Amino acid sequence: MKRLERAVGAVIGSAVGDALGAPFEFGPAGVFSARFPVCGDGGEMCGGGGWDPGEATDDTQMAILVAESLIERDGLDLPDIFSRFQRWAASEPKDIGLQTEDVLTNGMPWDLAAAVHFQVNRRAAGNGSLMRASPSAVYFAADGQRATMDAARRIAALTHGDRAAWEGTAVFHELVRRALLGADPIAAIPDILDAVHPGHRDRYAAVLSRDWHPDQATEFNGAVWPCLGSAVWAVRTTGGYEEAVRAAIDLGGDTDTVAAVSGGLAGACYGADAIPARWSELLHVPLPGYGDRVLRLPELHDLALRLAAQGRPKPATGERESAGSAADDNPMNAV
Ligand SMILES: [Mg+2]
Repeated sequence: MKRLERAVGAVIGSAVGDALGAPFEFGPAGVFSARFPVCGDGGEMCGGGGWDPGEATDDTQMAILVAESLIERDGLDLPDIFSRFQRWAASEPKDIGLQTEDVLTNGMPWDLAAAVHFQVNRRAAGNGSLMRASPSAVYFAADGQRATMDAARRIAALTHGDRAAWEGTAVFHELVRRALLGADPIAAIPDILDAVHPGHRDRYAAVLSRDWHPDQATEFNGAVWPCLGSAVWAVRTTGGYEEAVRAAIDLGGDTDTVAAVSGGLAGACYGADAIPARWSELLHVPLPGYGDRVLRLPELHDLALRLAAQGRPKPATGERESAGSAADDNPMNAV
């Protein structure tokens, strides 16, 4: 399978998971499989809870804002991402995380808002930076492990002052990078944990271990640790995109986000063709604050391709092409 098919799978897979999980948010476990007992039967993109069938929520809306900033600014422009978030938050989206809303509307500058919120509240380890990370994971994959994990931390820190959220988002970026290379991201987890900040490593090692089950979570899955752990569990214990996303939603709780994270990773593993068309053809992503824009499958497909193409490493200014050994050795260049 080609890298681009995996990249498209990550971006669209996350959005589809979000839209599929949204109607089940805050429900108990098992509701999805009780209503749709047989995999592949159809009708699952059902809408409800204020969401139309196929309508993506804040997870995907924020992910698209990040994606468009990366493309239009041709790289990581943190103040630009923050101002796009603010414009979106100010237009009263249907859903927005409590902490994210506070950070984006407290009037503080981009490089202080999340840190100040964390100083005051001390609780900022929600899954709100993890949920929007699939496009940035695709974009930064070609830059290698250190760079993609660092970019994840910096984007996460725009809204989340707690380093736990940065580290979880960094792990997700690296899992997606490994999957885009055609490697098994689950097998890479011990390796990836070595790159996690030492103060946060043990807690991620616990939720990412092979014998962890979401029932063992010590927090609601709106927190970053069980959310990432549940997404990895959903991919680890199933054999395809559809099964992984079903398993994620069936956990109950923060179903749209757990399914968005699971769907991003599963899409990167199995590629865009593994995403059921009966789900993706209903997908649509409104962008509050940006006029009447609604992104559908062709726009998301195009966005994913541009992220994958534009994120390829460029020689630094003044650096000779032949000196870019990291880029030359990078299998991501072999599209
Ligand atoms: Mg949501």
